Amino acid sequence: MLLFSSTVCLFAQNKMTHSPHPLPISQWVSFAAKLNRFCQSYSTAPFELKNRIPDSLYQHLRSSEWINDSGHPTKYLIIITLDGLRWQEVFMGADSILWDQALQKGRLPIQTEDFQDVSPEKRREKLMPFLWSHIAQHGQIYGNRNKASTVSVTNKMRISYPGYNEIFAGYPDDQHIKLNFKIPNPNSNVLRFIGQNRSFRGRVASFASWDVFPSIFNAKMGGLYVNAAFQPVQNNHFSHLNRQLESVSKPWGKHLRPDSLTTAYALQYLRHHAPRVLHIGLGETDEYAHEKKYAEYLLAAQANDRMIGRIWQFVQSSPRYRNKTTLFITTDHGRGNSPATWHKHHGWVDGAEEIWFAVMGPQTAPLGEVENSVPYYQCQFAQTFAAFLGLEYQGNKAVAEKISELFIKESPLLEQQKNNKNIDNQLFTKK
Ligand SMILES: [Zn+2]
Repeated sequence: MLLFSSTVCLFAQNKMTHSPHPLPISQWVSFAAKLNRFCQSYSTAPFELKNRIPDSLYQHLRSSEWINDSGHPTKYLIIITLDGLRWQEVFMGADSILWDQALQKGRLPIQTEDFQDVSPEKRREKLMPFLWSHIAQHGQIYGNRNKASTVSVTNKMRISYPGYNEIFAGYPDDQHIKLNFKIPNPNSNVLRFIGQNRSFRGRVASFASWDVFPSIFNAKMGGLYVNAAFQPVQNNHFSHLNRQLESVSKPWGKHLRPDSLTTAYALQYLRHHAPRVLHIGLGETDEYAHEKKYAEYLLAAQANDRMIGRIWQFVQSSPRYRNKTTLFITTDHGRGNSPATWHKHHGWVDGAEEIWFAVMGPQTAPLGEVENSVPYYQCQFAQTFAAFLGLEYQGNKAVAEKISELFIKESPLLEQQKNNKNIDNQLFTKK
């Protein structure tokens, strides 16, 4: 625009220097600046479009990539789930009791100084440096129960499929989703809902390590593309990764693809398919925890943090995604909160309902680790995802409310919410 307005001005100046009263150069510069400002305001609010066209058309244009509406800065959404990573490690780093337990069992595949420190802040930075440097600086992190921030699952099962159902359906379903079997999910999910919107059609995808995700999203019903476990992508851009599917070692058989390969697929999909919404489901933390391998569990969490860093590095180096993408990171369930139960999680394990989440993007204020927050719930994530994209998710049951605290524009509501003691009763909106 600056180039355009400068060219117009130079052209006009050239014409007018032949007139009997040429303007001094300083006035031309100020005229060029004014024209440039006009052009910029035209490009962001062409003729105040909102007041001149039907509301439905405006909503459509706004949620598409064509209008740069300053009130709606998130054009792209990336959701990353880290299976069964406890809030205890996220906020306090390596646990000293579990570390000693692991040491007693034999030599650890990691160096003590890479994970240990007396300060929990230093330990967590060693475990997840991207989360605690970049996201803590630019986004918000919730779920540190030691600082009065609680995030919980509301399903009673406290295992993976029920957790992912709660995240994406926007409500728990203890009646139908009890186990991790590959049954097609009967519930609506927010990704399919978004994918059925005209502006997002063909632009919603999930790449997941775990082979149950096609059932969790009920991929056959359409609305989003799901690639999981050792399923190749039939496209030339992915042939080098497809070859790795065959050659890579498979510590968990066919049911879990290594997270690094899942991330490589997701990155390639971002590069070549430019999705508006992308879910990346990583799973190694849960596998190592079930095997009671604490050191490997920590290593997997640290590697996941690096993968998130790589995804964000790509986002911010891409003219398409830069400063227009919201990143949301969370987990499907917690785990036991004692040295005897840390490795497991189900309905009778204390602590398995305790989760956490982190968000960073153009609509989220850089508050870092949030303390003294109202309690939040896993079922609120679905409506929050839709809200980032300017949509309101309609599920086939009542869906929990979005987390308003994450949206800069709505922060005055936050105070109101904090004063409202009945927040838990109001969690679910009426359908
Ligand atoms: Zn598990």
